[in-house]
Amino acid sequence: MTDRISSPGRTKEIIQRYGFSFKKSLGQNFLIDQNILDKIVSAAELDEQSGALEIGPGIGALTERLAAAAGKVTAVEIDRRLIPILQDVLSPYPNVTIRNDDVLKVDLHQVFAEDFAGVDKVSVVANLPYYVTTPILMKLLEEKLPLRNIVVMIQKEVAERMAASPGGKEYGSLSIAVQYYSEPELVCTVPHTVFIPQPNVESAVIRLKVRENPPVQVMNEKFFFEVVQASFTQRRKTIANNLKARFFSGEGRERLEALLAEAGIDPARRGETLSLQEYAKLSDVLYTAGIVSQ
Ligand code: SAM
Repeated sequence: MTDRISSPGRTKEIIQRYGFSFKKSLGQNFLIDQNILDKIVSAAELDEQSGALEIGPGIGALTERLAAAAGKVTAVEIDRRLIPILQDVLSPYPNVTIRNDDVLKVDLHQVFAEDFAGVDKVSVVANLPYYVTTPILMKLLEEKLPLRNIVVMIQKEVAERMAASPGGKEYGSLSIAVQYYSEPELVCTVPHTVFIPQPNVESAVIRLKVRENPPVQVMNEKFFFEVVQASFTQRRKTIANNLKARFFSGEGRERLEALLAEAGIDPARRGETLSLQEYAKLSDVLYTAGIVSQ
């Protein structure tokens, strides 16, 4: 039996055979550790009825595992040089579709319609390129794709921010955005040694269980996120000062304090202490009062 693509020996052999050179600018750090791959795949809870969307398959280390665990796999890779390699090394797996695309530009609803017709539920499973982690995850969540969960290797510090609770220094607009759409859970932290080449940041695997409905109902989603963004503009400032700068010019201080009181929020609090529920209440109170960004 041939070794798995992800074994260190086979990875080196593939890289040499095709004369592949890593591009740091594309976040290319390939996985060579069987235990970590097992953890990632088992966290996605795949079965033959499920689909898996992989972003950035590299030379196919994780793709090969997904092909064995899911019914259908689609892998979107931006680097054209990797496409012939993937087609070759993954040729034993007929349930894999490889697409040469930038995941940030491709129409994912169309990809789902074309590749996952007849599939029960779809998971995103990936060792993400770290330079675009947040835009990729926000695209997946905001586009409201029919996803069950998202299991991704990302920078440890970003994973901690996504899963953070109110009150700590990791909690911010990213925590709120991710928790509005999903329930994040840290699966494991990962040492540098599981990649070639080794990245110079720490890594972690996170699972986002995608929510069917957000945990709070807001009158206007766009305005809700605007209020959240505004509240963290300067972390050391109070919520009142941050909101004043964005929404209340000139004489607006008294009106702002009255609206904060109506929302049950002390104006001296900082943005990092408010829960998702409090932001929802606050944004509805401001929205009802006709407040708009200035
Ligand atoms: N999945 C492989 C593994 O675990 O060994 C490779 C992971 S590597 C961290 C990230 C991969 O994402 C690279 O293959 C890179 O070329 C690809 N990539 C980077 N930016 C991308 C983008 N915008 N769209 C799709 N793929 C991208």
